[in-house]
Amino acid sequence: MTRLRLAIVGAGPAGIYAADILLRAERNFDVSIDLFDQLPAPYGLVRYGVAPDHPRIKGIITALREVLDRGDIRVFGNVRFGEDVTLDDLKRHYNAVIFATGAVRDAELHIPGVELEGSYGAAEFVSWFDGHPDFPRTWPLEAEQVAVIGNGNVALDVARMLAKHAEDLLPTEIPANVFDGLKASPVTDVHVFGRRGPTSVKFTPLELRELGELRDVDMIVYDEDFDYDDAARAAVSGNKQVFVIDKVLNQWRQREVGRASRRLHLHFFAKPLEIADDGTGRVGAIRYERTAPDGEGGVVGTGEIREIPVQAVYRAVGYFGSPLPGIPFDERRGIIPNREGQVLVKSNPDGSNQQMYGVYTTGWIKRGPVGLIGHTKSDAMETVRHLINDLGNWWRPESQSEESVVAMLEERGIDYTTLDGWRNLDVHEMALGEKQGRARVKVVPRDEMVDISLGRAAKA
Ligand SMILES: Cc1cc2nc3c(=O)[nH]c(=O)nc-3n(C[C@H](O)[C@H](O)[C@H](O)COP(=O)(O)OP(=O)(O)OC[C@H]3O[C@@H](n4cnc5c(N)ncnc54)[C@H](O)[C@@H]3O)c2cc1C
Repeated sequence: MTRLRLAIVGAGPAGIYAADILLRAERNFDVSIDLFDQLPAPYGLVRYGVAPDHPRIKGIITALREVLDRGDIRVFGNVRFGEDVTLDDLKRHYNAVIFATGAVRDAELHIPGVELEGSYGAAEFVSWFDGHPDFPRTWPLEAEQVAVIGNGNVALDVARMLAKHAEDLLPTEIPANVFDGLKASPVTDVHVFGRRGPTSVKFTPLELRELGELRDVDMIVYDEDFDYDDAARAAVSGNKQVFVIDKVLNQWRQREVGRASRRLHLHFFAKPLEIADDGTGRVGAIRYERTAPDGEGGVVGTGEIREIPVQAVYRAVGYFGSPLPGIPFDERRGIIPNREGQVLVKSNPDGSNQQMYGVYTTGWIKRGPVGLIGHTKSDAMETVRHLINDLGNWWRPESQSEESVVAMLEERGIDYTTLDGWRNLDVHEMALGEKQGRARVKVVPRDEMVDISLGRAAKA
């Protein structure tokens, strides 16, 4: 019987769902799957993006884990595509590859002052508070007034993590260094800026409502932002999500404020123009232009410039994918160019795209960094459907043996981790948590993660 040896690069939700869907799909060939990830632990942004105080979403790991625990997918962690293994290596050992490498860096924001000290990308801060091994252990939380630019869920995650009292995060899985950093934060005011009005935000009602439940944090909204035009009123009456958002914000307008030690301000119709220098190369203020509805659902600048003193700015304007060596990349969209998951390469004489046989993509690197974890499932279905139908165009590897890949990694001296290794790390983190009455305490340094996974911790 024909056998598909498949490599999947990226063990986030998209990669794991793709493996699961393929193994369950109706097909007339056998399948053997190896899942590679550059990190020693699987689950991608569910582990290293979703905020630690969202245990329900973090709980999706349980479902992903059940897929891996079934035992029909091999995991090779701590293996980076492009450095430890290349496309030529994969062609020698597999019939096809699916790239599910997601997006981990910040999209750029082009305003003066982004380079100042105290101006940060949200993705870096998220990676810090979620204990990503490749980011610094310490974070400079020295600002009393902070700006967060953006009106999506990541902006709200960042604002909430900055405004929330560290003690209230203690029951979560935040690493010890993150708790210590947040506990010492002198923050009093977090200002969130969105260019559009309250009825055009990208965040979801659940994330918004949660802000109003933070202990000792006043929610500040400004009456001037609620002078709705016809388009905004139509959005409130015609869209359930907008209706709820409007209702929550209006409830906050009625709330008595002034007693809390911290404040979270939502500024709508506020387009950041510049991050101002305090005279020493550090962030000193954020300068923004007041906007107004343009009557067609957008906004226009009013020319009225305002300024709020802040000592730090977090730019939460979206994530962006990273190119992979040897794989086509769309620099504008930050994705691997593809047609429903079949990777496309510009190789026709007329410059048009043609399919790069054997190479597929799914998840955020396929369609861009928008959408929830659940959306990666439908992505994977589409990609896997093409992979199955393309049987005649798969690669013909030198060796289909499962051992040959292990031999290659060992020959290269790569400290790869496996599913058993992940289980060791998982048990270790939960034991650390138990000692402190918490569900889990994450291990952050990469070498420690690898040592624990490989059972070498006692020797260290
Ligand atoms: C801050 C934040 C909060 C979020 N909160 C929520 C939420 O509350 N609810 C929700 O539903 N969704 C949330 N999301 C969205 C969700 O995380 C994504 O939809 C989902 O993780 C995308 O899955 P993916 O597998 O495509 O990418 P990822 O989850 O990014 O996984 C990609 C994997 O590929 C690996 N990789 C990358 N490059 C290489 C390489 N060269 N070699 C080997 N491996 C590589 C990475 O290490 C990673 O494990 C959030 C996202 C962010 C950024």
